[in-house]
Amino acid sequence: MGSITLQKVSKVFGEAKVIPSIDLDINDGEFVVFVGPSGCGKSTLLRLIAGLEDVSGGKIVIDGKDATEKAPSERGLAMVFQSYALYPHMSVRNNIAFPLKMAGVDKAEIDRKVTDAARVLNLTDYLERKPRQLSGGQRQRVAIGRAIVRQPSAFLFDEPLSNLDGALRVNMRLEISELHQQLKTTMIYVTHDQVEAMTMADKIVVLNRGNIEQVGSPLELYSRPRNLFVAGFIGSPK
Ligand code: ADP
Ligand code: MG
Repeated sequence: MGSITLQKVSKVFGEAKVIPSIDLDINDGEFVVFVGPSGCGKSTLLRLIAGLEDVSGGKIVIDGKDATEKAPSERGLAMVFQSYALYPHMSVRNNIAFPLKMAGVDKAEIDRKVTDAARVLNLTDYLERKPRQLSGGQRQRVAIGRAIVRQPSAFLFDEPLSNLDGALRVNMRLEISELHQQLKTTMIYVTHDQVEAMTMADKIVVLNRGNIEQVGSPLELYSRPRNLFVAGFIGSPK
C-alpha cells in the first residue's frame, strides 16, 4: 500500500501548459519531496495526485490500480493542509474525529482512533481544547491527526510549515520525519525550501516550469546534480 505512479501526466489551464508531461514512480513507504521555485507547479502536481484537479492527459496509478478517474475520497490518500484549516469552534477531539464522523464510522471506533492518533502526536492532554488555545505547532499536529485517523496509504503535504516561524519550523520538520519513521506510510511533501528538502527526503523531485529536472536522494542531487538549475537550487540554501 502506498505506491503511486504517474504516466505522462499533464495539466493545462486555459492556454498555460503548467505541467507538460511527467513520469514518476513513488514507492511504498518513501518520503518524497517535491521542491522547486514558486509557480513551478508543485501544488498543481500534488492536487492532481489527490484528485482535487483533473489531469489534462496521462494516467495516475495508486497501489496498482488506475485512479485517474477516481474521486479524491476514493484514492485512499490524505491531504494535510496548513494549520489554519482547523474548525475553530470544534475541540481538538472533534477536529480529529471529523473525517470519521463524515464517513459514518461508529462512535467506539472513532474514540479509539482519535485516542491512538493523539498518543502518536502528543496531543492526549489537549483533546478538549479549542484550536485557539493551542500553539502553532500543536495546531499543525491536529491537522496531521485529522489525516492519520483515516489510515491513508499516503499523506500529501503542501508547504505545511510555511506559516510557522523559524524554530518551530525546525521542530515540526523533525516531528514529521519521526512520524514517517513510526508510521512508515508514503509521504509526499511539497516545499520551496531547499533545506527542508535536503533534511527530510528519501527522494527529492526537483521541478522547474512543470518539468522534472532530476529525481534522486539528497546525496545524489548534491554530489551529482544533472544541470546548473539543480546545482544552483540545491547548492544555495536561503
Ligand atoms: P507552486 O505550488 O509550485 O508555487 P502552482 O502549482 O501553484 O505552483 O502553480 C503553477 C502555475 O499554474 C502557476 O503559473 C499558476 O499561476 C498556475 N495555476 C495554478 N492553478 C491554476 C488555476 N486554477 N488556474 C489557472 N492557473 C493556475
Ligand atoms: Mg504551491
